[in-house]
Amino acid sequence: MPNGHSSAVDTFMQGLKKRNPGEPEFHQAVEEVVNTLMPFVQQNKEYEEARILERLTEPDRVVIFRVCWEDDKGNIRTNRAWRVQFNNSIGPYKGGLRFHPTVTLSVLKFLGFEQTFKNSLTGLPMGGAKGGSNFNPKGKSDREVMRFCQSLMIELHRHIGEDTDIPAGDIGVGAREISNLFGQYKRLVNRFTGVLTGKGLAFGGSLVRTEATGYGAVYFTQNMLACSGDSLEGKTAVVSGSGNVATYCVQKLIQSGAKPLTLSDSGGFVHDPAGITQEKLDWIIDLKTQRRGRISEYAQEFPGVTFHEGQRPWSVACDLAFPCATQNELNEQEAQTLIRNGLKAVAEGANMPSTLGAIHTFLGNKIPFGPGKAANAGGVGVSGLEQSQNSLRIAWSAAEVDQRLQGIMKGIHDQCVQYGKGEDGYCNYVRGANIAGFVKVADAMLAYGIV
Ligand code: NDP
Repeated sequence: MPNGHSSAVDTFMQGLKKRNPGEPEFHQAVEEVVNTLMPFVQQNKEYEEARILERLTEPDRVVIFRVCWEDDKGNIRTNRAWRVQFNNSIGPYKGGLRFHPTVTLSVLKFLGFEQTFKNSLTGLPMGGAKGGSNFNPKGKSDREVMRFCQSLMIELHRHIGEDTDIPAGDIGVGAREISNLFGQYKRLVNRFTGVLTGKGLAFGGSLVRTEATGYGAVYFTQNMLACSGDSLEGKTAVVSGSGNVATYCVQKLIQSGAKPLTLSDSGGFVHDPAGITQEKLDWIIDLKTQRRGRISEYAQEFPGVTFHEGQRPWSVACDLAFPCATQNELNEQEAQTLIRNGLKAVAEGANMPSTLGAIHTFLGNKIPFGPGKAANAGGVGVSGLEQSQNSLRIAWSAAEVDQRLQGIMKGIHDQCVQYGKGEDGYCNYVRGANIAGFVKVADAMLAYGIV
């Protein structure tokens, strides 16, 4: 990057850190974006003069509230919850809710900021938001989770609505939690509206929403490989996580003729050299969603599989890497190991799973690298389709939704290429996604004037 840009980035980041102390994840997400956007903004003076970057890094609104609930033993428990409404320039706020003990304001601001760009990339009219709580659903009974969700919604319902802010799931918020949240919302406002996405099929959910993020990451990879005339057929893949995104990423890899080798959770990873098959995956999905077990049990169930306690899967040689668990789960050394072992492409199923050092390593080695805001946008894309179906009061078939999902992922890929392809033919998808996501939001902000 030329010196003028890097000193402008430094000055910008110093100001941002001063205004937002103690928020390392938010700083990291902004730095990744500003690094690639600064030269573009400096070349397009209307954005610079309107201070769009300063305005875009300040959330529209943050709501912080207490959530009290009673556990099964009659103890009173207190958690904290947030809704970060980041930017609604191009549509109502939209973004998931995360329930995990590591949730902080910093984490939700990073996620809401990323979501603004991601939603813009989908081509659908959705603004960016994120929310959640430091509540840990792990080890809680179904009734405890229900009481927590109901208590949370008593406050949250004032701030959301089908034309205002439409939350969805994320880590720790799956079908059970969305159902509890939607049931309570409906009871409080006495209206049946598409205020949440990821709903059950019986009450307004969309087919393929569950699968959409993982499937979308694989579709994005197909598009990246196709640029060099390559395909997924016969490729080995290392996948991290074993939740919603990871499991459906594995499913689409299997359907596409690739060979997924690993899955993980916070306890460690499993390595199946024979490859995870659909039959084994069905067992895993049941383990994770019904029995709420640990991925280590997979190694006990199937011969030839090893469990690596406390480790991440990036030491396993592969053609493709899909980090699908959580932020900062793939660092610079691990990126180097993957490349030494013959890596051909990376697609981020999770949000910000690669550290800044890892991203620089992938880009420096000209590895096709799909950043989360592009590669995992399939989830929110189908959430947008769920909203459309709710508004129209119709339900599309699985084939129709999947077709639209593939179209959305191709559209995102092509926008990244438009802004990210260099003279040597290498596409920097990070730059492409950041600029393409930015332009639409920034132009809307310019049109509104000083708001
Ligand atoms: P799930 O809760 O279904 O699964 C999360 C998985 O990641 C679990 O295997 C979990 O293991 C693991 N994990 C979570 N935190 C950590 C941690 N600190 N260290 C190691 N492993 C961890 O969540 P999703 O699959 O929905 O989300 C995964 C990622 O994808 C997140 O970054 C999310 O923001 C992103 N994403 C999700 C979308 C969706 O549609 N669901 C859409 C776009 C992005 P354990 O059980 O041990 O905690």
